[in-house]
Amino acid sequence: MSSRILVVEDNLDIAEGLQRSLEYDGYTVSLATKAAHALAVATSDRPELIVLDLGLPDKDGYEVLRELRERGVQTPVLILSARREEADKLQGFRLGADDYVTKPFSILELMARISALLRRASPAPAPAPAPGSDAAVAAAAAAEAAPKPGPLSDEALRERYSLTARQIEVVRLLAEGCSNAEIATRLEMSYYTARNHTEQVLGKLGVSSRAAVGALIYGQG
Ligand code: CA
Repeated sequence: MSSRILVVEDNLDIAEGLQRSLEYDGYTVSLATKAAHALAVATSDRPELIVLDLGLPDKDGYEVLRELRERGVQTPVLILSARREEADKLQGFRLGADDYVTKPFSILELMARISALLRRASPAPAPAPAPGSDAAVAAAAAAEAAPKPGPLSDEALRERYSLTARQIEVVRLLAEGCSNAEIATRLEMSYYTARNHTEQVLGKLGVSSRAAVGALIYGQG
């Protein structure tokens, strides 16, 4: 369940750097370097998040945002701009932007904001059935019939997968769905150290994706 992100940025160095970091964190990324292309992709592919540069060659990023909202596209938009003026930020929010990051930006901060936006935008879980209803009784019976195995203990992780104490901390965060940026913040390490830990942990657990970690730890895999 990787989130799809559309990056709209005409500076290819920035665009491709961003794409690499996002893909590394498990997102699916498409790039657009022009407003026209961005509008087409945003409308047809319905990404879960749009990172939008303001200075585009064919149109202002604000125009893109305005047209998207006019077309009823409610995808969260994070503006990425060299314009630091308060007025520019306000204009962005007025047009329906969800966040605003100024260049030069820290990749760590940007990744953290992206994952926060996605979390905020993801639909709330379905409401539980009313207590005493047939559905609630059936759900309770099913839960009793098939108890879920508990999560893997630290000891099991250490013994079965030879993880270090630090790697176990990383595994717990991965299982919660944390991105590398969030792991870096929570464990007070650099983004690149978090990346390295994630890579080593995935290797030791023998899983190919971050999503598989939660399933393994919580015994749903
Ligand atoms: Ca630009």
